[in-house]
Amino acid sequence: LMQLSIPLNFIGFIYREIRQGLTDIEEMFTLLDVPEEVEDRPDAAPLAVTAGAIRFENVRFRYEAGREILKGISFEVPPGKSVAIVGPSGAGKSTLSRLLFRFYDLESGRITIDGQDIARVTQSSLRAAIGIVPQDTVLFNDTLEYNIRYGRMEASEAELRQAAERAQIGRFIELLPEGFATRVGERGLKLSGGEKQRVAIARTLLKGPSILVLDEATSALDTHTEQEIQSALDEAARERTTLTIAHRLSTIVAADEILVLKAGEIVERGSHAGLLEAGGLYAEMWRMQREATEAEEALRRARAAD
Ligand code: ATP
Repeated sequence: LMQLSIPLNFIGFIYREIRQGLTDIEEMFTLLDVPEEVEDRPDAAPLAVTAGAIRFENVRFRYEAGREILKGISFEVPPGKSVAIVGPSGAGKSTLSRLLFRFYDLESGRITIDGQDIARVTQSSLRAAIGIVPQDTVLFNDTLEYNIRYGRMEASEAELRQAAERAQIGRFIELLPEGFATRVGERGLKLSGGEKQRVAIARTLLKGPSILVLDEATSALDTHTEQEIQSALDEAARERTTLTIAHRLSTIVAADEILVLKAGEIVERGSHAGLLEAGGLYAEMWRMQREATEAEEALRRARAAD
């Protein structure tokens, strides 16, 4: 029995590793055929996206009995607008985006897209309507072309190039000897975190979803990379309903609305300017991030002067 249980544990371990590594859920399901935790209702119809309006109505949620993670969340992202969610670690920000994909069912309340309860539509149509740029992009061990085309396999050559260009990765690819045919991943070209993220953005642009979820990386990027990624993200978010899970406040200054989440509740909401003026938690977070950035810059200058 011992001999049998070791490999089984090992498989479980590998399975969990893969599960945590792949944040793009579509890939996860197609690659692993993982059983889904929620099921389509027998009468589920495909989601019909018209304008792309998202609504959370008094959403309550817990992962397990006892600890409530979201305690009555209500907000709206009007078609084509952008809403950013900020707040301390563990506040429930990523949970909100997981619920929009319906990875879990709610305890109470409702989430709708263009008026349709997402619990009543087919999961495949729901997930097809939403594009996600995850924190850490995992690319396939295949060519750059395949990795971008994965967003929409039947896209034309011109559409492929245009997506890469708009994601600010086109020039980089064209300068490679093998261009789009360059293999990436373990046995291919190693890409930096920022390059991988831009490939993921190109994939999302090609997919062309009406709704976009941006899960910003927690890790600090250098200013240049951050600017390149930011302009690629701004391009992706243009004219699309966008929900951003933000860690760096500098990237969401222009959001139509910012929600400040704390311990599962929205404690402040408004524009960047309005929230600064209110002098609450957001203003405090902004001050702390600015101080941290200034300290980092001072350190860098001191090092450079050595
Ligand atoms: P961060 O900024 O650190 O990413 P967050 O605001 O995105 O944090 P969430 O990931 O939404 O926070 O997590 C909210 C709470 O839910 C945390 O206390 C976390 O421990 C808990 N949690 C997250 N995922 C699970 C899970 N699969 N099972 C049980 N609890 C979970």
